[in-house]
Amino acid sequence: MTDALRDQAVRVRFCPSPTGSPHVGLARTALFNWAFARHHQLYGAGGTFVFRIEDTDAARDSEESYETLLEVMRWLGFTWDEGPEVGGPHAPYRQSQRMELYADVARRLHEAGRAYHCYCSTEELEERNAAARAAGRAPGYDGHCRELDESQVAAYTAEGRKPVLRFRMPDVAITFDDLVRGEITFQPENVPDFALVRANGHPLYTLVNPVDDASMEITHVLRGEDLLSSTPRQIALYDALAEVGVGTGTVPRFGHLPYVMGQGNKKLSKRDPEANLLGYRDAGFLPEGLLNYLALLGWAIADDRDVFSMAEMVEVFDIARVNPNPARFDLKKAEAINGSQLRLLATSELAVRITPYLQSAGLIADPPTTEQAALLDAAVPLVHERMNKLTEAPELLGFLLVDEDEFALVDAIDEDGRAVVAAALAALEAVDTWATEAIDEALRAALIEGLGLKPRLAFGPVRVAITGRRISPPLFESLELLGRDRALGRLRAVAAPVR
Ligand code: GLU
Ligand code: ZN
Repeated sequence: MTDALRDQAVRVRFCPSPTGSPHVGLARTALFNWAFARHHQLYGAGGTFVFRIEDTDAARDSEESYETLLEVMRWLGFTWDEGPEVGGPHAPYRQSQRMELYADVARRLHEAGRAYHCYCSTEELEERNAAARAAGRAPGYDGHCRELDESQVAAYTAEGRKPVLRFRMPDVAITFDDLVRGEITFQPENVPDFALVRANGHPLYTLVNPVDDASMEITHVLRGEDLLSSTPRQIALYDALAEVGVGTGTVPRFGHLPYVMGQGNKKLSKRDPEANLLGYRDAGFLPEGLLNYLALLGWAIADDRDVFSMAEMVEVFDIARVNPNPARFDLKKAEAINGSQLRLLATSELAVRITPYLQSAGLIADPPTTEQAALLDAAVPLVHERMNKLTEAPELLGFLLVDEDEFALVDAIDEDGRAVVAAALAALEAVDTWATEAIDEALRAALIEGLGLKPRLAFGPVRVAITGRRISPPLFESLELLGRDRALGRLRAVAAPVR
């Protein structure tokens, strides 16, 4: 962190709109803002993470989506210092509850002459844009209504037109030093006057977002690159807001996070299935695993290191080290990172994490019975090294936890296999101490030495008879955990008639 940043208490915001289901790009933005705030809280002059809900678009926003956002934030383990449910000095943090403020600010901007009423219809705007394009000029608002006189206004009003409120952009180039991308300049012809309030009185993102950033004293705006084009407008608006008494007049620093590319090198879209955040929970991701992976979308803790904790990220996070180039979303890599995080959990913690997945598969009760809990404690160490996602637990452990009369083979066993199982049954019936080592010895003696089989042909059929599947936790340990009676019963059910 630069010295200037060390001396300044920072305030950042995460301000999603509650539309549709929350996607990975949003979570990446939340993560970088959160890590930035926490880093400054611990090692700088202070950091505040503000969570704000931008729900001014009644047609698109939904309460369901708002609830899902909160659920996702909690699942990922983010804590916010100000925002929904926790409140704060700038409450309320839902824009739908701040409408009076926006109406008041709009009125003041109009009175100060920093914004004006524009009566142009959509058709007229489109026509003039088309003409501009044909003449080789940049399309965009042409300033038509900037200086209307009273009689023109009266005429439009008599026609029944309702005006939008449009911001008067200053006729100068706007330059800012992006925290990720360095210096960026916008020429005035590329930033035309823009609407702040719709004709029906509804305030737009262009107004409410900077009004809140200014009044909530946000110091750093870290957000996706798709919003880069709104930054010069917001910088100009800040100046006008200060003039009408909103905020301190200090423009925040901006940092635009790189695009996330999905399949076929196209921008990952909200509609891509791999974009849906809650889908990751359903697919058995750990929040630690998903966050670790999201951190890699534009940032790295070190050249040769992919796996780290959020505490480690917070310790060294520096926005200046975010890579401006597009990041590629790679589901395989996300799963591998999740597997690494899963192996870092204590085994007892893994048991806690897989429990809901086993419960929804109907394999254990809620809460688990004493017997089920004990079985789980003994079984989880067997699968800890083999899992990448929590959803693998029901498949791997189901054979132990099912009711015996519901146990069924998933993979098939052929005639030769049944003969092997018969031999295994005979050998195991003679075992006195039902423990891994004795089971191991008996099976090897009977199948490898006795029948002269290769290990795969010897243990494969026994594995399917015992676990139902060709892929399972280690066989001898599984046999021990299953217990003598259940194990012999399963072998008997498969064994070919003894010849
Ligand atoms: N509500 C806006 C969005 O979700 C926030 C953009 C911003 O961070 O300024 O796109
Ligand atoms: Zn106009």
